[in-house]
Amino acid sequence: MSLTEELEEFISRFPVYQYAFVTPEQIHFNDSVVEICKRECPHYNTSWACYPAVGKVSKSRARCLKYDGALVFSTVTKLDNPDSRRDRLETKTQHEKLTGIVADQMTGMGLRPYILTSDYCTNCLRCGFPQEYCRHPEVLYPCIESNGIVMSDLLEFCKMDNYMSDDLSLWFSIIFFEDPASIKEHFNG
Ligand code: SF4
Repeated sequence: MSLTEELEEFISRFPVYQYAFVTPEQIHFNDSVVEICKRECPHYNTSWACYPAVGKVSKSRARCLKYDGALVFSTVTKLDNPDSRRDRLETKTQHEKLTGIVADQMTGMGLRPYILTSDYCTNCLRCGFPQEYCRHPEVLYPCIESNGIVMSDLLEFCKMDNYMSDDLSLWFSIIFFEDPASIKEHFNG
């Protein structure tokens, strides 16, 4: 069994909605994404997981390109009360727990994962940024968009849903990993 098959078998035990394997070169990065964060996101410049704390897009891209492959996956949860921000954030907490489990499995397989997830970090009631260093760096997963990743392009490429409906909460993770043999095997069929 290849490493990607092993991973597929592992994630099939969990409520992962959709997933795909890509190479980092297939992911588009663009400074305009963080311009949207700047204009539209209330969390801009408020968290260690977000821009500008995560660093320039060129650096993020260079960091991601060092890896051999990436697992992109989503989870979806039906919301009883779509207007409740609390309920929506609770689904993010569940998504991040699952992301940590998948990443732990990758670590155990020697894949040295690097994790990005949707949106800002919700681990603490109030982020220590910028006065204190991150209190829980082991579960600080930088925001996908803050790294300049054009998620709409990536999801289209992966044939994954970007939006479903207001009462379905959809979250994403991208877990980069090191393993040349595995990814080559996957793309060569
Ligand atoms: S773990 Fe806490 S301190 Fe660290 S980025 Fe997240 S919210 Fe901020």
